[in-house]
Amino acid sequence: MDEISISVSMPLDNDGFLRRECPSCEQEFKWFAHEEGDVAAESVEQYFCPLCGSASDLDSWWTPAQLEYAQGSAGPSLDQAVQDLMEESFKGVKGISFEPSRNFSLEIPTQEPLAEPDDMEIVQPPCHPNEPVKIPETAVSRLHCLICGEPFAV
Ligand SMILES: [Zn+2]
Ligand SMILES: [Zn+2]
Repeated sequence: MDEISISVSMPLDNDGFLRRECPSCEQEFKWFAHEEGDVAAESVEQYFCPLCGSASDLDSWWTPAQLEYAQGSAGPSLDQAVQDLMEESFKGVKGISFEPSRNFSLEIPTQEPLAEPDDMEIVQPPCHPNEPVKIPETAVSRLHCLICGEPFAV
């Protein structure tokens, strides 16, 4: 069977920032979501949490709400993918025809669109000003660069 891959796009705030949660300190911040092919985007193997300075893999920064949203949004596309596969497997089989049904569903609940409020303050690390982050207003005065982990004062 072919692999089914489903992409779910996460909402950004009006400045183009994506909400993230640090897997180490579990605090939320946002990083700037560069468009694909943006030359200002740093290519890294891990990111540093601006708040606690711990490094983690690229895909370990989802907030619980985003994970839930991804599951909910994947539901309808998964239904469609499974239906396509079934239709494909019945093709060419004599005497059997597959009728796609509108009611076919794996019964994964669909999700309300995720809203992204324009909260938090933009901070640019002096060492990597092309990779700004947004941090909660109550955050500490000493932060770490997302890219290299270098500490800096706000
Ligand atoms: Zn952290
Ligand atoms: Zn840096």
